[in-house]
This record gives sequence, C-alpha cells and structure tokens, in this order.
Amino acid sequence: MIARTEVVERPPLLRSVNPATGEVLGEFKNMNETEVLSAVMKAKQAQKSWGFLPFEERAEWILKFKEFIRKNIENIADVISKEKGVSKFEALISDVFPILDLCSFYAKNTEKILKKEKVKIGIWEFIGRESYIEYFPYGVIGIISPWNFPFSIPVGQIVIALMAGNTCVLKPSEFTPKTGIMIKEIFDNIRLPQGVVEVVTGDGYTGECLVKAGVDKIFFTGSTFTGKRIIKIASEKLTPVVMELGGKDPMIVFEDVDLDITSDAAIFGSFFNTGQVCASVERIYVQRKIFNEFVDLIVEKTKKLRCGYSAVPWEYDVGAVISEKQLLKIKEHIEDAKEKGAKILAGGKIKSLFVEPVIIANVDGRFKVVSEETFGPVLPVMPFDTEDEAIQLANDSIYGLTASVWTRNIQRAKRIAQKLVYATVMINDNLITHAIPQVPWGGVKQSGIGRTHGKEGLLEMVQIRHIHINKMGQKIRSPWWYPFTPEKYRFALSLTNLIHSPYLKEKIESLLNIIKNIGKVSKQHL
Ligand code: NAD
Repeated sequence: MIARTEVVERPPLLRSVNPATGEVLGEFKNMNETEVLSAVMKAKQAQKSWGFLPFEERAEWILKFKEFIRKNIENIADVISKEKGVSKFEALISDVFPILDLCSFYAKNTEKILKKEKVKIGIWEFIGRESYIEYFPYGVIGIISPWNFPFSIPVGQIVIALMAGNTCVLKPSEFTPKTGIMIKEIFDNIRLPQGVVEVVTGDGYTGECLVKAGVDKIFFTGSTFTGKRIIKIASEKLTPVVMELGGKDPMIVFEDVDLDITSDAAIFGSFFNTGQVCASVERIYVQRKIFNEFVDLIVEKTKKLRCGYSAVPWEYDVGAVISEKQLLKIKEHIEDAKEKGAKILAGGKIKSLFVEPVIIANVDGRFKVVSEETFGPVLPVMPFDTEDEAIQLANDSIYGLTASVWTRNIQRAKRIAQKLVYATVMINDNLITHAIPQVPWGGVKQSGIGRTHGKEGLLEMVQIRHIHINKMGQKIRSPWWYPFTPEKYRFALSLTNLIHSPYLKEKIESLLNIIKNIGKVSKQHL
C-alpha cells in the first residue's frame, strides 16, 4: 500500500482549459493509487511479450505510429495549441514535427546501437576467458512529463523506451491531460497491443503514486524542485531515475557577430513558446562595444512581436503563459528587478495570461531574473568585457542545461565551449538540439541526471548484462580455488611478477617457476 504523504482534498476530475481563451477542452480523471497500480500491472503484463519481439517488429509499430502522426499532423498540433494557448504554428514545429524524425531514427538504429559487444579482457583471454555485454530492457518505464512540450517530450521517451523493449506508463501534466490522452488514442488507433503504452491522468499525487507503483525506471521531466522530491521517493526502492530539470540558459554575444541575425536569434531563443522552454535563453551577455546597439535592436524587434492567440496558425507570435501560478512567478521576477533598480526597456504589459515580452537592463546576478529560472517571456541583458568574464558569468548558476556562444570566430567559440559547465553548448544557434534525435539531451548540475535522446538516451532505457565464459571451465580447476597451499601462494607471486614486473629477467624466472609448479598446483583440490 502507498502511504499518502499529503492529506489534501483532491478533485476527482482535472479540467483541461485553454489558457488563452478560458475555453474548457475536457475533463479527465484525477487518478488515484489503485488506478495507477492497475496501469502499471497492465504494462508489466504486456512487457512479457513486447520485450521479446524482434527489433524489426517493434520498428514496424513505431513507423506505423509515425505515419499516423504525419497524416494527422494538423489535428494533433491543434489539440496541443489549444491546451497550451500558443499558436498552432509553434505547436506544429516544436511539439510534433521533431517526433517524426525521432521515430525514423530509433526505428532504424536501435538494433545497431544495442547490439551485443565483445569486451577485450587482456590477460584473461590468454587463460581461456571471453566476455561480452548485451542489453536488456528494464521492464516498465514510468514517464512523468511537464506541460510545456506535452507531446514531443513524452512521445520521444515512449518511442525510445518501446524500441528498447520496455513498456511505459505516462503521467502527463495536470495542465495538459488532453494531449496525454491523445497520445494513448494514437497508439490505440494503430492497434498497438494493450498495455504497451498506458496513460494515467492526474496531478502531482498521481505522479507520486506512479513513482511508488513498482515501475522499473522513472524518466522525469519538470522542475528541479519536483525532481528532488521524486528522487527521495524513488530512493526507497532504489528505482533508477533520469531527471530532465530546469535551466537558466545564457547566450554570450561577441562584438564580431552579425547584429541583425544574432538579435533575431536572441528574441526567438527567449520568447519562443512564450519563454516556457527549459532551454530558453534566460540571460544574455553582450560584449560592451556592441552592447547599446544590440540592445536597441532587440528592443525594437521585441516591440514588433504580436502577442495573442487565434485559430490562424501564423496570426500571433507569442501566446499565453500556461497558468496563474506561472504568471505569478513572472510578475515576481519583474517586480524584484524593478525594486532593485532595473530598467524595463520593452514590454511588460499583462492582460489575463498574456505577457508582452519584456527586455530588462541594469541587472546583475543579485536579481531573481538573472539567477532563478523565470520560465516566461522575460529577457535580462548584461554587458561583459573579456572572454574570461563572459565564461565566469555564464557559469555562475546552479543550472547547467544549455548555453550558446555567438561569434564569427568558431575557434574562439569552441575554446569557450570547453570551459562552459553545460550539458549542451550551441555555437551560433540556440534551443534547437532537443529536436535532433541523434544527440544526447540532458543537464549537468541541478539541471538533471542522465540523458534522453541519442545513443546515450537509448542506453538509459536498458540494463547491461555481462556474460563471461570460462572456455576451460569444464576441463581444469582455477589455481586460486580451495585449498590454499604454499605452492599456490608461490604460484600467485610468480604470476604477479610475470605479468607486472618491468624487468625481463624477473619475468623469465617467474615463467619458469610457473611451468615448474603448474602441474602440482592443478592437482591440489578438495
Ligand atoms: P513540475 O515539476 O511542476 O511538474 C512536472 C510533472 O511532475 C507534472 O506532471 C506534475 O504533475 C508532476 N509532479 C508534481 N509533483 C509531483 C510529485 N510529488 N511526484 C511525482 N510527480 C509530480 O514542472 P512543470 O511546471 O510541469 O514544468 C516546468 C519545468 O520543467 C521547468 O522547470 C522546466 O525547465 C522544466 N523542463 C525541463 C525540461 C528538460 O528537458 N530539462 C524540459 C521541459 C521542462
């Protein structure tokens, strides 16, 4: 039985609401412990056969899934756009499009990446030993997701988990249950065997039940705060976790950049998805010589952004923030900055859940907007003088998700990248790498543990089994077995010197000793 850690009244239903319009999109179960356990049991049962399907068969399912998404891409983007209150264009390019490539990549490459591997075992090979490693699925993967990319984040993890032979139980965010259920419906539509992908809708408590329900690994994506809580709960059963957490991503702009291109990139990197991306540019450091000119440009361009929501996919650039709670955080950061003497250079008007994108100057590391994750359309800009100063400012964070370096001098950018304590460093780009399935995604410091995507992400979905074969095991005894004898002791010393002495003379003497004693030693047994 799961002991509830919080005694709170939980509503039986979750309401999915378009944050841009207030339209109610549907009601979904706020699932309890029994419902979560039942989903996990179904997934466990299904894994018994799914885990033994050949890779090609799993790949066929994934490609069917991909084709269903491709054919229905606009309807899928529509559900996401409404549930997040952002444009359908944004939903399409960020949440659905990358998944098609991801499906192709893992359908084609999983078998190759997970193939059995022989391990070179040095001296042991001379005494008839052989080792290899093979990979096997965990079993049931519990996936707990945020609302900011309610399709691409969980679906990416589900596809990789399935290709590796696991089944999954997904707990979508309480803000986006409709998208979560849509994921299940897509799998039902292609007639994926029951239990292979289960979805449990609900709030944080439902998530907690999933962590406790006996899943074999947890993939959590969300805030660092919740991540730490989940790690504590998971530690009770030593359930392994992958944590994809928050960020405060810096963009470093050198004086040799193309100002026009780089200012466009700054704005896109900061305000895309209403600034609600873990890898959003959350602070910009600009070299002093171009600081004023660069800031003028981003202010001018930010003022041109159209903030609003409509059914026309391209009518607005920046949509709503997801919730009152998120809005409060954004307001808190803006107020803190104002109180400490910052200058608001653009935006800041707030109407219902819409925040006109904000550019803030006259700030430094003491401001919340520079040191804490804002997760909204708020961009602080600061000057720097030297390369070393830029690196020091960028690294001054508890987070380490992504950073970007902007310059025409690629050698300099590579040199700086080596000193940035971030899991991803982009040179002359930002935001994009979560959409590239071949490369690892994750964070260092308090931005996360482990990886999703890439070969590294696939390896997180499997356990390693080492197979060791003693080819002489049925013919002779190992010389270190019982009983311990003086001959065996001397044999061990000779062997040590034969292998490790740097002197040829000592090696030869040891070898002669071994040859002399081996017969005797091999006859000494219980
Ligand atoms: P959140 O931590 O509030 O919630 C994430 C998920 O955890 C939700 O499904 C929620 O219901 C569930 N949850 C809450 N409490 C729980 C508990 N005690 N046990 C189990 N599950 C629980 O995060 P959010 O507001 O949905 O998302 C925003 C955060 O996610 C930001 O910090 C952002 O940086 C981060 N994020 C990180 C990545 C990444 O890849 N690193 C990607 C997207 C978002």
